[in-house]
Amino acid sequence: MSRYTDAVCRLCRREQQKLFLKGDKCYTKCVLEKREGGPGVAKPQRGKPSAYSIRLREKQKLRRMIQMNERPFERKVAEASKAREASGDHLLRALELRLDNVVRRSGLATSLKTARQLVKHGHVKIGGKPVNIPSYAVKAGEVISLTPKLKENVGVKLSLDTAKKLNNRPAFIEFNEAELSAKVLRIPERAEMSFPINDQLIIEYYSR
Ligand code: SF4
Repeated sequence: MSRYTDAVCRLCRREQQKLFLKGDKCYTKCVLEKREGGPGVAKPQRGKPSAYSIRLREKQKLRRMIQMNERPFERKVAEASKAREASGDHLLRALELRLDNVVRRSGLATSLKTARQLVKHGHVKIGGKPVNIPSYAVKAGEVISLTPKLKENVGVKLSLDTAKKLNNRPAFIEFNEAELSAKVLRIPERAEMSFPINDQLIIEYYSR
């Protein structure tokens, strides 16, 4: 599986939007607030973008926010297209409730990359049992916790401080700082999700 190893801020510059890929720095020293234009682009593109390009960019934006490769992302969209509810809502909810994303939204990690690392290294438990699959679909009522030895971890402490400062934990998550645990109270509503994109354009991109 290919992995993007270049500077992640390039991706934000390409999309001309903050994708929050670098954790704490995204809130304090974001380069996007200093530089304009995409990587290697001296001036903004002239002319009107085509309908295809608008849809492609929206798809790339979401894929980069959730840091998924094209094939698994395409599979997620295909699954969403078969759902009974609106495909876009289904897709965003499925991405929002991925274990790595819930860890990030709980404030246990400042970026998706760090959250994924915590999960892959076996530091995250669900209902007391270790789960090391970042794509695990968290259900309403499930409790996620970190192994107690991470209480003194510098990265986790920094994440908790940042979460406290930003005060942006969503209402569908109940966080217990003493236990380092988070309970997903219910299925998130559209306004509570972390992807400010137009989901309809993404569904249209894949229905070409
Ligand atoms: Fe994107 Fe964060 Fe870099 Fe800003 S600091 S450009 S939000 S990755």
